[in-house]
Amino acid sequence: MTLSALPIENLVAALAPLLGPQGIITEAAGIERYTVDFWHQHKGTTPLVLRPDSTEAVAAIVREAARLGVAIVPQSGNSGLVAGGIPDGSGRQVVLSLERLNRIRAVDAAGGSLVAEAGCILADVQAAADGAGRLFPLSLGAEGSCRIGGNLSTNAGGVNVLRYGMTRQLVLGLEVVLADGRVWNGLRALQKDNTGYDLKQLFIGAEGSLGIITAAVLRLYPRPRERRTIWLGIESPADALRLLSLFQDHLGELISSFELIAGLGVEAANDHLPGGRRPLAEPHPWHLLIEVAWSLDGGLDVPVDRALEAGFDAGLVQDGTIAQNEAQRTAMWLIREGQSEATTKVGHVQRSDISVAIADLPALIARAEAHFGKLAPDVQLFPFGHVGDGNLHFNFLIPRDREGVPELRSLLNEHLMMLVAEFGGSFSAEHGIGRLKRGELERRKDPLELELMRRLKATLDPTGILNPGVILAAPDAPASREIS
Ligand SMILES: Cc1cc2nc3c(=O)[nH]c(=O)nc-3n(C[C@H](O)[C@H](O)[C@H](O)COP(=O)(O)OP(=O)(O)OC[C@H]3O[C@@H](n4cnc5c(N)ncnc54)[C@H](O)[C@@H]3O)c2cc1C
Repeated sequence: MTLSALPIENLVAALAPLLGPQGIITEAAGIERYTVDFWHQHKGTTPLVLRPDSTEAVAAIVREAARLGVAIVPQSGNSGLVAGGIPDGSGRQVVLSLERLNRIRAVDAAGGSLVAEAGCILADVQAAADGAGRLFPLSLGAEGSCRIGGNLSTNAGGVNVLRYGMTRQLVLGLEVVLADGRVWNGLRALQKDNTGYDLKQLFIGAEGSLGIITAAVLRLYPRPRERRTIWLGIESPADALRLLSLFQDHLGELISSFELIAGLGVEAANDHLPGGRRPLAEPHPWHLLIEVAWSLDGGLDVPVDRALEAGFDAGLVQDGTIAQNEAQRTAMWLIREGQSEATTKVGHVQRSDISVAIADLPALIARAEAHFGKLAPDVQLFPFGHVGDGNLHFNFLIPRDREGVPELRSLLNEHLMMLVAEFGGSFSAEHGIGRLKRGELERRKDPLELELMRRLKATLDPTGILNPGVILAAPDAPASREIS
């Protein structure tokens, strides 16, 4: 693609002195990775990637883009799963990568806060907090590549939501470049601030459609000193819920993760994931990965043993093991995080991200098994996810040699959304809307809520240059191309 459209040529000319050669990519080979999503399922197109390394440079880009009417797609780690961080297929959207804006500006252990720029990799923020004797609890499978700007913009969930909440609960302040290029400095570390509307919450979860997050004050927690990571083989999702209740009776708020994984996913990881080994000797229909932790030095064994004993006595646990060291803990999490990728070695994977009331999870899974057993008997279900939050990645394994895979994907998705709606659930629990779920949003969101969302967008981005086509429809915005 060439810089044929005049406004983009002008944009490059205006920004080149400010951004320097490292800050501008125009060759196709360099641009490629910014236009394809994590699973290589969607591809957009752009003539230009801009890589500023300061808030001032981001502001200058947005000012210039606003002046020339060029649409901007902010991108941090590009691990998002709804095609919101890649450009559409028009070739008229410019990618603004935050990856060079990656300094940790301050760590305040006593005050429990850390200031990170949008391009900081999540794992680096976790390490900085740890280095100061604190915990930044956001944790997800993509933490080695996703970045704080993306985490905030998707209001990411992950494996510790049960105890620490979603990303929006981990943020004290924000710095945001607005659609006209002005910088809103809301970088306050105040735990309490009831001075009108909580503006930062508008930008969190907005997927780059209302402003560009350049830095954030993040909330830190006491670092756990003692932790137990437990793997259980169980018979059914109903037993998983009974165990959740039982663990809560014995361990209360000390439970940080309570993850359910279908046997199919565990076996795929066991067979196909490099270094992946099932923690239990035998296969089981379902597995639980549970983590509990506290900030005291010892004493966790007693309540953990009691919870496990109660689980075995009630006949809810078929087999179980506790990680004895960090290597075993890592091996357990490797299976949890890697099973989704491992299943791609077995067939085509259709992914989803739904939630229902926690109590409804077993009924939803049973209903889905019966429904899809009839609709597509050759397709296997392997739900997994954050059962403690009522959030499942309800995934399907489609035989490798199946014909009509794209049509089948749509059918599976449509029927799953129908079932989830029957249970009053959400069609996007933690991944957001992006470009992929925009139709779903339009179909399923309350019209008044949609109207309020459109009015917010029109107020904060009146010329529509910020991530057009993401969350809400934009005039003339072709979707990114499906490439699998
Ligand atoms: C293996 C794997 C596991 C995952 N597990 C989870 C999980 O457990 N829970 C979960 O919630 N998600 C999960 N995800 C999804 C993804 O990692 C998260 O959505 C993550 O928060 C995205 O961060 P990112 O930096 O990659 O964002 P990107 O993909 O770069 O962007 C995501 C969205 O935010 C916008 N954006 C990015 N940066 C900015 C900015 N600075 N200002 C304004 N808008 C911006 C983009 O335009 C886009 O709309 C997983 C993904 C993978 C690949």
